Amino acid sequence: MTGPSGARITAGLADIPAQVDVLVAGLGVTGAGVALDAAARGLSVLAVDAHDVAFGTSRWSSKLVHGGLRYLASGQLGIAYESAVERGILLQRTAPHLVRPMPMLVPLTSNVSTPQAMLTAAGIGIADLLRTAARTSAYVLPRPRRIPAQHALRWVPALRHAGLRGALLYWDGQLEDDARLVICLARTAAAHGAVVRTRVRVTAATGTGATLRDELTGTTVAVTARAVINATGVWASQLASEIRLRPSRGTHLVLRGETLPGLAAAFTVPVPGSVSRWIFALPQSDGTIFVGLTDEPAEGDVPDVPEPADAEIDFLLNVVSASLEHPLRRDDVAGAFAGLRPLLDAEGHTADLSRKHAVRTSANGVVTVVGGKLTTYRRMAEDAVDATGIASAPSPTADLALLGAAPAGELARIDAPARLVRRFGTEAPLVLATARAASGLPDRELLSPGPRGVTLAELIFGVTHEGAIGADDLLDRRTRLGLVPADRDEALELANRALRIAGC
Ligand SMILES: Cc1cc2nc3c(=O)[nH]c(=O)nc-3n(C[C@H](O)[C@H](O)[C@H](O)COP(=O)(O)OP(=O)(O)OC[C@H]3O[C@@H](n4cnc5c(N)ncnc54)[C@H](O)[C@@H]3O)c2cc1C
Repeated sequence: MTGPSGARITAGLADIPAQVDVLVAGLGVTGAGVALDAAARGLSVLAVDAHDVAFGTSRWSSKLVHGGLRYLASGQLGIAYESAVERGILLQRTAPHLVRPMPMLVPLTSNVSTPQAMLTAAGIGIADLLRTAARTSAYVLPRPRRIPAQHALRWVPALRHAGLRGALLYWDGQLEDDARLVICLARTAAAHGAVVRTRVRVTAATGTGATLRDELTGTTVAVTARAVINATGVWASQLASEIRLRPSRGTHLVLRGETLPGLAAAFTVPVPGSVSRWIFALPQSDGTIFVGLTDEPAEGDVPDVPEPADAEIDFLLNVVSASLEHPLRRDDVAGAFAGLRPLLDAEGHTADLSRKHAVRTSANGVVTVVGGKLTTYRRMAEDAVDATGIASAPSPTADLALLGAAPAGELARIDAPARLVRRFGTEAPLVLATARAASGLPDRELLSPGPRGVTLAELIFGVTHEGAIGADDLLDRRTRLGLVPADRDEALELANRALRIAGC
């Protein structure tokens, strides 16, 4: 094990091993999870991404680590249970610094019929049984209950008062940020000896090796491996042509906190005409609010960065506004983002396709792991490494704390700024010490809050330890300022300053 300060992500092909046990293509949550699983079992690992860590779908999620309530509506009890187990592992053992309990409200407005309310309450009740079965403590995720209208308005003051009969209150898991989880996984893999590289594309692969191209220099090399794992999400069929995907686009809006003042819980609003589809409004730790999400078939070539459609933005505004005292307007939208779900092809609308993951071994020996969801990345990684047949040890990752992880009580005692502890856990002092050493600047400057609280200290650490080589990496993945174009513009100079200080 390298240890936290030596755990670095870097860019390009320089000094990569010519031979490894496992080569991983893709550094989304799945590939980063696979790299950690294989490295933690003692295998030598090279894990690469054509762009950057968390470049693909993994940064466009709703940032929920959820217990699978939505799968219960479609009778997928097994997937819901697996989600509940993985949620408990992340919240209680492996990443309590990045995953936190979040109160979720289902307001019983005039748009929610009594049968719909009863059905939802039953689903929430079953989800709570799964929480118990998954051994997640009720101290961590409190039991659900029905609350009166006045209490609901304390959690969500913006709700329409007229016709509000109360609300169902339950708890689920929320990430500090999805890209931050992926970066933390990739660095934890590096701490266990994995070589983790960005800007390296797998251009061809078999079960015994791959050709890699350095996207910065154009250099190509061949690497031999005992197993090759394809974790390239919606791009998976480019390396395994027999994999058929039917991507579906999910769009979120980003609102400023002041648009729904006093929002202290997430809340859900039913999509008219559907019993199982809901739109969420999700408060984020940086003060923004996400409203999502849609589920639209995405035909044609897979773009690098999907774009939300205008009609989706109007749809989300209309559905949420139906439950609010003051409807949202188009100019309340500070930003919008879309992601593509890597769903396996099957009959039916994309909203009904199974969210179960699949591990398939191609005729040429490449193992592809695809589908599933962010919450279950660990299980996906374990199944993929098992499928290679080369690991002699069982996966230890259910008990393997990620870098920075510690129980809430311990995190509260760390002598470092709250923002850094929220994003780096026990590594917060390392982040600050690294920035001090690289810049020679006083803490006043390193910690002065920029747009949405971002600090120069964390941007410098993004370059020194997390593999950022340009402003896009810092603004769109190491932080998420890019979700609001105005914040991105404002923070650009700070990002460039971090790059200059760290010698990029
Ligand atoms: C809108 C939306 C909301 C969601 N919300 C949630 C949620 O709240 N909770 C949840 O649990 N799940 C959620 N999901 C599901 C979850 O986000 C995805 O299942 C998961 O992120 C997929 O991760 P991945 O690593 O498989 O793919 P990706 O994150 O797409 O990673 C694939 C990576 O492979 C790289 N790559 C591609 N080709 C190559 C190549 N040839 N060589 C090297 N690298 C390559 C790409 O650059 C990319 O970084 C959501 C999905 C969507 C679309």
